Amino acid sequence: MKMTDNALNMIKNQLKRVMAAGGFYAEKLKDVDIDGIRTQEDFETLPFSEKADLRNAYPLGLSAVPEEDIVRIHSSSGTTGTPVIIPYTQKDVDDWAELFRRCYEIAGVTKKDRIHITPGYGLWTAGIGFQLGAEKLGAMTIPMGPGNTDKQIKFMEDMESTVLCATSSYALLLAEEIEKRGVKNKIKLKKGVIGSERWGEKMRARIADELGVQLYDIYGLTEVYGPGIAINCEYNTGMHYFDDFLYFEIIDPKTGRVLPDGELGELVITTLQKEGAPLIRYRTHDLTRIVPGKCPCGRSYPRIDVILGRTDDMVKVKGVNIFPGQIDDLLKELEGASSEYQVFIDHAEGKDQMTVFVETALDGERKKAMEKSMKDLFKTRIGLTIVPKAVSIGDLPRSEKKSTRIYDYRY
Ligand code: ZN
Repeated sequence: MKMTDNALNMIKNQLKRVMAAGGFYAEKLKDVDIDGIRTQEDFETLPFSEKADLRNAYPLGLSAVPEEDIVRIHSSSGTTGTPVIIPYTQKDVDDWAELFRRCYEIAGVTKKDRIHITPGYGLWTAGIGFQLGAEKLGAMTIPMGPGNTDKQIKFMEDMESTVLCATSSYALLLAEEIEKRGVKNKIKLKKGVIGSERWGEKMRARIADELGVQLYDIYGLTEVYGPGIAINCEYNTGMHYFDDFLYFEIIDPKTGRVLPDGELGELVITTLQKEGAPLIRYRTHDLTRIVPGKCPCGRSYPRIDVILGRTDDMVKVKGVNIFPGQIDDLLKELEGASSEYQVFIDHAEGKDQMTVFVETALDGERKKAMEKSMKDLFKTRIGLTIVPKAVSIGDLPRSEKKSTRIYDYRY
């Protein structure tokens, strides 16, 4: 994505601010000549920031403003002990509400809607973001928070909620409960705004079908405001993001090289207007791509694809980056293939070799034909020549985790 002069200027101003603030970035960028940054290429020489950096700045080392300007903190869950604390100024809180308001608007939500919010409120950014954006839009909010399914369904009926905000797993649970109780005719939902964790097409179709709603994927992370920084529109061609607040890059997660539009890699975010905790080249470890061209909806906001997985699960074979989510998607298209598969990567005659085992109920010639289609599909979609192996249903060991479906024996 070409950086505009406006974005470059905003980034330079932000760099000056974080240097003057004397916090985390002042230390990290102390050897950088800020005035020497004149082009996108200059900007791309700046070092990346990682979640570990943010964690090291605990508790308030990220703050780039005087303490009296901080009105709120949020915190991202730390699975490894120390959490990350993100301080917000009033402008940050207002800006986040504006970004979220735009998300609702893109999803076709209006002030006449009644928005049922099930994500949690508190240190985590989820619930409160859904809330502020909805209030800014002017819609009626029903701030449920998570849990208590009886109450959720009662309020959904009595308050005639039209928009459900939830994680995909909670949306599915509610959909199943509504079905089970036979109260679907009392539910007035029209749209679902669903937090963008990775969820398959099958789950998506089930939720949409059982609730009778149109679904929208909303993206975000606590380090960068929270949810509400990108959402898909009615054409579902990727998620629009707000380039007047954020600068997105896609990099090769192994080399750090910036990739051209359309290529799959890791999303790196630079904030343009954030005061409390600006971020410069923050690595999200989320896998996506910039969707090239214009969306048929006519909006000028650029797009990223739905999040396809985490870079931590990725492997590189013959110079091509692949990851479990991509293989899941590909096998879904393969006629006769079940959802069970395993991938083995090894060296053969000095070269990488990838063998893909997939279970199928087919046999004989039809099984052979499926193997050939599988090989062709990998070649045309991922650009990789594989060794296809179709096996019978039940032949592969069952595992809980997707990432354990790829076995790399090269190292
Ligand atoms: Zn669009």
